[in-house]
Amino acid sequence: MDEFGLIDHIARRARLRADVVLGIGDDAALLQPPPGRQLAVTADTLNAGVHFPAETLPADIGWKALAVNLSDLAAMGAAPLWCTLSLSLPQADAGWLEGFVDGFFALADASGIALVGGDTTRGPLSLSITAMGAVPAGQALRRDGARVGDDIWISGMPGEAAGALRLWQRGALAVRAPAADSGHEILRQRLQRPTPRLQLGQTLHGVASAAADVSDGLLADLGHIATRSGVGAVVQAGRVPLSSALRDALGADAARDCALRGGDDYELCFTAAPERRDALQALSSRLALPLTRIGHVVEGRGVSCEGGADTGHAAGYRHFAAQ
Ligand code: ADP
Ligand code: MG
Repeated sequence: MDEFGLIDHIARRARLRADVVLGIGDDAALLQPPPGRQLAVTADTLNAGVHFPAETLPADIGWKALAVNLSDLAAMGAAPLWCTLSLSLPQADAGWLEGFVDGFFALADASGIALVGGDTTRGPLSLSITAMGAVPAGQALRRDGARVGDDIWISGMPGEAAGALRLWQRGALAVRAPAADSGHEILRQRLQRPTPRLQLGQTLHGVASAAADVSDGLLADLGHIATRSGVGAVVQAGRVPLSSALRDALGADAARDCALRGGDDYELCFTAAPERRDALQALSSRLALPLTRIGHVVEGRGVSCEGGADTGHAAGYRHFAAQ
């Protein structure tokens, strides 16, 4: 299989949308943006050995490469429209590609995003996706809208993906195969097949004042909201929800550390005025997704954590940081 065989294999699986005037196959795609909407555009790269263990199943890589991009759209409150996929592959392996497209299109088709182009080259395994979505003009969920007095919320059960990574690092979890322990399997699924909170993001317009997805770690990503908004944030560590799967696997202290500092969860962290509490509880029931109030926005700067093992330190994962 050569470059064009690979592209053909991918293109055959791509579903079109009515707003794709011209998809894969020409020098560029032609797309018709919806009237009255702004485009949200985001790009993320996954490199083997850096963003996922090298032995990760190709289907899980395909799912996750798209999921992290959809999560950025969710964090903006955008509805998915289109994406491109740039693949760097060490060799043209038909079996690998088959698995990859299975995972990729399982999520693409479920979320309604259309693959409209990309690039295919030989090199170390790396997947780079650009995703585009639509937001009602002027209503995107930005990081710079948090106000003093707002509540801080988190969706879902943070820390489970980081918990899986810790188990894997100590040799207690295989990323390729279902875990015998049902709790470990819950954590493994959260690492390998994160669920971008697309529905939540699109229902937070006019409710949340600021939002970000948790890719680097809850405290770190909240720190980005605080910095961009010119405010401080206080997190009450005891309020951060911990799943029983995570607590059983690691114990309460390590579980809390994963929830506060572990990345890769792709939950949404957002701020909202206290008047929104009832609406958010109702939304939580409607979406069958936990939404938990974990702190509040204050004057000042930075993120502090009350009731944690240590306070004030909020650094998440940074590429190129001194080791
Ligand atoms: P060009 O030389 O004009 O850049 P390519 O040969 O790289 O064109 O790609 C041919 C067509 O296939 C283009 O429409 C491109 O967008 C698409 N394409 C290439 N690689 C991928 C991929 N990995 N996923 C989806 N579309 C791809
Ligand atoms: Mg090209």
